[in-house]
Amino acid sequence: MNQDKIDLYGPLKKYFGFNKFKGLQEDVVRSIVEGNDTFVIMPTGGGKSLCYQLPALMQEGTAIVVSPLIALMKNQVDAIRGISENQGVAHVLNSSLNKTEIAKVKSDISNGITKLLYVAPESLTKDEYVDFLKEQTISFFAIDEAHCISEWGHDFRPEYRNLRKIIQRIGNVPIIGLTATATPKVQEDIIKTLAMNNANTFQASFNRPNLFYEVRPKTKNVASDIIRFIKQRQGKSGVIYCLSRKKVEELAQTLQVNGISALPYHAGLDGKTRAKHQDMFLMEDVDVIVATIAFGMGIDKPDVRFVIHHDIPKSLESYYQETGRAGRDDGEGYCLAFYAYKDIEKLEKFMANKPIAEQELGHALLQEVVGYAETSISRRQYLLHYFGEEFDAVNGLGAKMDDNTKNPKKQTEAKESVVTLLKVVKGSKEKYKTKDIVATLMGKANAMLSSHKTDERDFFGLGKDKNNEYWTALIRQTLVAGYLRKEIEQYGVVKLTPKGLEFLEKPVSFMMTEDHIYVDEDDRAVII
Ligand code: ADP
Repeated sequence: MNQDKIDLYGPLKKYFGFNKFKGLQEDVVRSIVEGNDTFVIMPTGGGKSLCYQLPALMQEGTAIVVSPLIALMKNQVDAIRGISENQGVAHVLNSSLNKTEIAKVKSDISNGITKLLYVAPESLTKDEYVDFLKEQTISFFAIDEAHCISEWGHDFRPEYRNLRKIIQRIGNVPIIGLTATATPKVQEDIIKTLAMNNANTFQASFNRPNLFYEVRPKTKNVASDIIRFIKQRQGKSGVIYCLSRKKVEELAQTLQVNGISALPYHAGLDGKTRAKHQDMFLMEDVDVIVATIAFGMGIDKPDVRFVIHHDIPKSLESYYQETGRAGRDDGEGYCLAFYAYKDIEKLEKFMANKPIAEQELGHALLQEVVGYAETSISRRQYLLHYFGEEFDAVNGLGAKMDDNTKNPKKQTEAKESVVTLLKVVKGSKEKYKTKDIVATLMGKANAMLSSHKTDERDFFGLGKDKNNEYWTALIRQTLVAGYLRKEIEQYGVVKLTPKGLEFLEKPVSFMMTEDHIYVDEDDRAVII
């Protein structure tokens, strides 16, 4: 059979009513129908579901879709049932089903009616299910939200670790991994754990050109700031994220009192209330949802016009996922984060009882959040760099869409400083994190530097004529420019790149922008 001839557009129209594929979908679908292991990395809203749903509908047998959340599975199954005459085309298999329901699911699978079977990883460990599925025709396995496999991701699920073994027990069929997490470490973990070394990998750009990014200092008047912001957007849909349930309740009430149609959403509310608030938001009976991170995974409301972070999240992955819920229809999406260093300290405190390695990782991730908040270069460029993507801050798509590029700070020539910085990184054998590199430049000894005798080296204190903030900003900017790189898996140790070594040989002009400095004074944050 000539695989090239498989028609994908007919089925696309027939099942989904779409005339065109979105982004990389066509290549992904082709890779799957041709029977390859396939790894799909697409930002939220990129259209990942169709990538496996269409091949499943086109092929013989049942595709098993592993998904972490029951609510997510239910949404998907309802959507698929909506496009088919036979309700049996998609099923969920989980512990909430009674015997009769399970028998129905099984018979639909055996009769070749079910094309998509959604399961939680826990259910897949049950011998009863494994023994049954082993006897069926399985088209492929799709592992949705595959980053749950990795401790380096933002939603680690230990059950995901065993998937490969179970899949092998059920049958030797292609594996499709799908995620919206782009960090190289997470990708590596997914490929390793699922043993997908020969997979065709498709990675879409993480740039969301229609989103506008802004960071504001968080003052004690943050609620009034939020009210003003929302009142300028009467009737538009938005989500506000807070760290604690208490804050969610408080803020939702404040908004209501001020005439804003808002409801709370957090895991402390009972299931019924949560579902009701979510539905009211989806049906536009309420404009604003004030929520903890419990709200969001799988929410597909295309016209969310703003996402506000009342509290800064614990990693840039989380920030990207949460802001990614704005503007999924490619229309306006305003992402506003309120930042105070105090909140970072609070998050650090939450980690205090965790194992040391986890604390260090958490700290490294938080430092990236601090970098994002304090930077005065293009926020889009900063975010995309974090995800391993280069972005042209002048001509790239969405280049003018953030507070920093809209109101640029003055730039100064920093060629000599970059030379000094790179010399110090090289001289200290690339073993320090930002904080210790800055201490070396400033000539401020600490236990770490003394233990390596760095305080006795000739470059110790070479950057004394500048201050901490200057060097921290320069490190961040040379990282984004690719002269240095940061090893997140070594908890943020900074190393030279070949480009950095070349710079040392032949320095060129480097224009730097000083970071924003936020000063907290009696709860009044000011931005300098
Ligand atoms: P993800 O899972 O990557 O976040 P979804 O699968 O939920 O994204 O898709 C996001 C939105 O894009 C959905 O509303 C979906 O209906 C729409 N969509 C997906 N593929 C297409 C397509 N080929 N043409 C038009 N709309 C599409």
